[in-house]
Amino acid sequence: MAVSRTTKPGTPGLLVSPNSVLANALLRSIDLLRPRVLASRPSRIEFVVGTQINGAPHLGTNLVQTAAFLLAKIARREFSIDTTVRFGALDNAPHEVILDPETHHAYQQTYFHALGKDRIGELIDGYYRAFFNSLSEATGTPYVIETYTDQQASPGFRAEFLRTLERIEDIRWWMAPSHGVVHIRVPCPECGWAEKRGDRTKLVSLDEDGATFTAVCLDHGDYEVHIDPEDDQPYLDLATLYRNLVKERALGRDGDVLHVMMKGGDWTFGCQLVDGALGALSTPPAAMPSRIFTPQVLAPTGAKLSKSLLREQGKGVLPADVEPWMLDTTAWPGDVDNYVDSLVWLVSELLTDPKHFFRSFTVKELGRLMTARPVSLPVRAHEMGIYKRYFDLIATGRKTTEIRVNDSSRRNIKVGNLIRFRCQGDEVLTRVTKVARYDSFEEMFDHEPVASVNPLATREDQLANIRQIYPPEREALGVVAIGIELVDPPRPA
Ligand SMILES: [Zn+2]
Repeated sequence: MAVSRTTKPGTPGLLVSPNSVLANALLRSIDLLRPRVLASRPSRIEFVVGTQINGAPHLGTNLVQTAAFLLAKIARREFSIDTTVRFGALDNAPHEVILDPETHHAYQQTYFHALGKDRIGELIDGYYRAFFNSLSEATGTPYVIETYTDQQASPGFRAEFLRTLERIEDIRWWMAPSHGVVHIRVPCPECGWAEKRGDRTKLVSLDEDGATFTAVCLDHGDYEVHIDPEDDQPYLDLATLYRNLVKERALGRDGDVLHVMMKGGDWTFGCQLVDGALGALSTPPAAMPSRIFTPQVLAPTGAKLSKSLLREQGKGVLPADVEPWMLDTTAWPGDVDNYVDSLVWLVSELLTDPKHFFRSFTVKELGRLMTARPVSLPVRAHEMGIYKRYFDLIATGRKTTEIRVNDSSRRNIKVGNLIRFRCQGDEVLTRVTKVARYDSFEEMFDHEPVASVNPLATREDQLANIRQIYPPEREALGVVAIGIELVDPPRPA
């Protein structure tokens, strides 16, 4: 059978969730982005997800990342805008903390300083590369990886940091409500160790040339560093809240790309302080961060499933409901593609209704959901929505060339890939037999048989129809002609 009816939305009866203020306001979760998309008309949407790299990922981490890739795919379809994922690897996490035996000041060294760039790269590759490649393929979404070290060295980040420093009196109580002392770490250039709480780190000058700090190293005594946007050295290590403030302010200045911060649900509380600081800095509405909070994974107590808590307290406190792969996803009983397909299925189910997505789940409930996943998950394929009249021509085997503009999701279509065309709950699976790229629809029709695109219309009529769907700025991306054949025998016309 060439055409199958999809079971969307969601597996009936699988999930029960109460209503919430946010869910009540939304038909679909992706609608949360609509006000910003309409207001700023971005040329691209980038989903930004930051992750600690100090240890094997657990389910909560992979859930945020899967949601980023899936929402990128949904947003691309919904808003007809190119979407990508940016993965921020937080290589400034403390690798080791020591106490000065005399003064009792705490010192720390980041992962970057302890391991160096190459080993950080290996760590990221080991934990995430195969997972991301698989997610990228499964969702047709390209991604880039950026470390915190890359980020802090960029002129935009440094300039933004210096701008916030000029207004430090306005933001310091937001960044540190209990004592008003903002921790800025400038590691010793000799050894890379820094005062954890910046007890003796002092800002001694701030002008158009940058900021000069003095600090005290455990081994090397007094030192001075100068932060200048023109120079990627010395290292600037900002604590979590301050880093987020600077990152969100810097990304908010990009008028062309809408950056969507993907954060675990526990961040909702912390963002109150970031928002206070953004307000204190008079951040304009169009530059305010766009954020999506993803479901939290909870232990039976209702607390967030925390690997560090388990590490501190020993495996004895491991709740019975926690399956080994939830804490260390490399323990998943299957290959990476199977793990990714299972997570994509899970998050797709959560996304069928905002009530399911904007809430938390216990490990027990997630275990139950994962057990309920279909025995055979859908075959991996590029997905394309299509008008009914073209869908019917494909399903009956009469349309063998599909035309699209060459946006990011089409660039990785290759011969032999599968494409699932969807229309009003029907779908048909095809295999790619040929991929040809052209500069314009005119050029495309000079090379492709007109009847293979649509056997029922002339070249002139087809061009007119296509140009109704794709405005000139979309055609400017280039045109891709995709040869397709049915995977199963055609449906009778
Ligand atoms: Zn030193």
